Amino acid sequence: MFRRREIVAMLGFLGAHEKLAIMVKLEAVQLRRLAAGALAQLNVQDTTAVIDIHELPDGSWFVDFEDRFPETRFPAFAIGIEPDWSADEASGMLRRELRDKLWICPLCQRRARIRRIVDSEDLRVDCDSCGRFEIESALLEELRSAIDSTDGIADELAQVAERLGSTDGIAHLSAENWRLSAKTQPR
Ligand SMILES: [Zn+2]
Repeated sequence: MFRRREIVAMLGFLGAHEKLAIMVKLEAVQLRRLAAGALAQLNVQDTTAVIDIHELPDGSWFVDFEDRFPETRFPAFAIGIEPDWSADEASGMLRRELRDKLWICPLCQRRARIRRIVDSEDLRVDCDSCGRFEIESALLEELRSAIDSTDGIADELAQVAERLGSTDGIAHLSAENWRLSAKTQPR
């Protein structure tokens, strides 16, 4: 027979144990929601889906994605999430990584094809909406961060895309010239 005090202690232990299990479960559920939200924000939920969320022994997480876009770069990939990140930090990282993995055009935010130019820090973007252009990889990274954090940048980028449309040859966007006019390179 257990004494009352022992039973209370046992119930306390069970309670704490269950609470811990619920917290872990909530984190995975929350991450799944954040990842689905990132896909919706990037407007790629028709092609790309969250397949699984799993935790590593060190407490960090992996969000597994599947991409069914016909010209996909990665049919399946994972994005790592550190345990000490806030929900906002995790969301921001998911969006940034998804823009990279899914080849999101830095100007119109639609899916495109992006290749690194051989022996160069520059990338070639081939976008159904903006056409073809080249961009410095550092500028591409900068624009991908700015789109989440800078007011009015989307309009500014749309204007750049419009100017590109009326440019002959392949435009080359650098940190110096992208706001002004796209310098073109003869093909
Ligand atoms: Zn584009």
